[in-house]
Amino acid sequence: MIEIKDVRKSFGPLEVLKGIDLTVQKGEVVSVIGGSGSGKSTLLTCINGLEQISHGSILVDGIEVHAKSTDLNKLRRNIGIVFQQFNSFPHLTVLENVTLAPRKVLGMSREQAEEIAVKHLTHVGLAEKLLVYPGRLSGGQQQRMAIARALAMSPAYMLFDEVTSALDPQLVGEVLDTLKLLADEGMTMICVTHEMGFARDVSDRVAFFHQGVMAEIAPSKQFFDAPQHAETQKFLSSVR
Ligand code: ADP
Ligand code: MG
Repeated sequence: MIEIKDVRKSFGPLEVLKGIDLTVQKGEVVSVIGGSGSGKSTLLTCINGLEQISHGSILVDGIEVHAKSTDLNKLRRNIGIVFQQFNSFPHLTVLENVTLAPRKVLGMSREQAEEIAVKHLTHVGLAEKLLVYPGRLSGGQQQRMAIARALAMSPAYMLFDEVTSALDPQLVGEVLDTLKLLADEGMTMICVTHEMGFARDVSDRVAFFHQGVMAEIAPSKQFFDAPQHAETQKFLSSVR
């Protein structure tokens, strides 16, 4: 599980996380919503150790992310992260994009890495695109490739940061369907999202961030049916 305890994070004089407490259980899906600049992305980058924290602790399977003794490379193999912007290697085929890290980081043979890559690419609906270059894929296909690439490392956790925000509206659904599939299979996920339907239907709990504070967190149905915090109500009425 992921245990976030009183995490504070500042960039210079600006405190962007002001004491976040959140425990995500194995198999749980938590959606994080909130306005721009409220600290959602920063929280994800702190969880996988891309950013330092100023106070508190984050434990992943009991291992303290920001302890000096922690092997960050090892930890990150266990935490897949997919961002809003599609980042792929344009000169490599879809299959090569997905086999790269398992071969280079995990030391898998080409055959073994390809077997796993094909499995995940089939799972996200890209079985027909193995030998295509990413530039020939739609945004939704590129994002699904990015998800397959993260899954190829067999992570126990997946972090998604607005993975549908850069997509044309008609491509959003296919990526959300992929996330739902993963959730149904029991993947432990934290999803920063603007998709309220997804947050409500797929996640177990929804957290609302406001100015660096987790102002509210509740089971998803309860969260949307009866938001408690005035800022949550304001936010929800602005996005509905
Ligand atoms: P969100 O994802 O909720 O939109 P972010 O976590 O990206 O918010 O950002 C929270 C705040 O931290 C913003 O004010 C942003 O400008 C600031 N911030 C984020 N990253 C950095 C950075 N590397 N250096 C300085 N300020 C940053
Ligand atoms: Mg963000």
